[in-house]
Amino acid sequence: MSTLDSLLHAALDRIARAGQRRVLRPAEATPEGAITRDGRALIDFSSNDYLGLSRHPVLAERAREWTARMGTGAGASRLVTGTREAHLALEARVAAFKGTEAALIFASGWQANAAAIPALLAAAPGTAVFADRLVHASMHGGIAAAGARQHRFRHNDLDHLETLLAEKGAAAPARLILTESVFSMDGDVPDLARLAAIARRHDAALYVDEAHATGVLGPGGAGLSAGVPGQVDVIMGTFSKALGGFGAYVAGSRALIDYLVNAASGFVFSTAPPPAVLGAIDAALDLVPGMDAERAHLAALGDRLRGGLARLGLDHGASATQIVPAMIGAEDAAMALSARLEQAGMLASAIRPPTVPPGTSRLRLALKATQGEAQVDALLAAIAACR
Ligand code: PMP
Repeated sequence: MSTLDSLLHAALDRIARAGQRRVLRPAEATPEGAITRDGRALIDFSSNDYLGLSRHPVLAERAREWTARMGTGAGASRLVTGTREAHLALEARVAAFKGTEAALIFASGWQANAAAIPALLAAAPGTAVFADRLVHASMHGGIAAAGARQHRFRHNDLDHLETLLAEKGAAAPARLILTESVFSMDGDVPDLARLAAIARRHDAALYVDEAHATGVLGPGGAGLSAGVPGQVDVIMGTFSKALGGFGAYVAGSRALIDYLVNAASGFVFSTAPPPAVLGAIDAALDLVPGMDAERAHLAALGDRLRGGLARLGLDHGASATQIVPAMIGAEDAAMALSARLEQAGMLASAIRPPTVPPGTSRLRLALKATQGEAQVDALLAAIAACR
């Protein structure tokens, strides 16, 4: 065995001893929107395909059409020969959708956060960073890549943020606040209006990840930043969840986008997203603004699920969206419940450390607009039976 492999085996053993070793298990998506695993159809309460668009024929057709016209690959990074008119037109569409001056497409949400944040911090060395302690790993990754120190505020605790800004922010040359508009593992939302006011008061830039709000919340599915127009300096979101495709965007001022084109290494040194991906996004943007009925239905399903969990004595935290955690606590209990639910035909993933803080293992239940009340009731009945 090579030295590298023996080191890696030792590292894997450490992960296993901590009870955190994971393996990849295929889950196939059926045309009807179900997921099959080990040959069995499961009702999907796990994926982020909130509007069911990943199987929508209009997206598939546009992806095929754009591939036929432009090929399967962009061939180079955006600044070399990878920029098509299609990229620029789509970026203009995203900016219009988000109500910003400009927007930039990234290959993935991970890449957008991991590239945009260090670029922003490089613009003003010494910037003090204030991050909600539950922001996505890609945001923490971006801060770490910049070698910046972050001050983490307690989750959605804006009083704590204000205290930290006053204590640690005043002496810094600039301040950056990072949060999400819908938290991916908790389904709760910050008070964006108050956050924006705090940012203004402390002369801090506000960066909001709308990965789980895009397509689902806000007017026409434009996200929650649309509720505080012009007050979020950097809006990031993904096309990989409710928009049914792949990739991500950063939206904001023209200066922000021009700067990222020059300074975000994950943009500059990465091949441009391919035509199939762009076509699917373009089609999703045709459909999403008109999906108010689906959004209202999804919100009602969320209320129904939260009500049912509460009746079962299960805490759902501060969830107010299509993401509803069922708090279990211990890792093995959450894993065992998820496995029993899978036996009962429900895909309800257990989420455990390090993805969530120790002692807060949970089922992360993600609802879809394509589901009905009967499916939510079936899930609740299965949880009651399996616990
Ligand atoms: N931000 C948040 C809040 C996320 O939940 C995710 C993905 N789960 C990402 C960013 C990364 O997006 P992508 O999957 O497109 O890389």
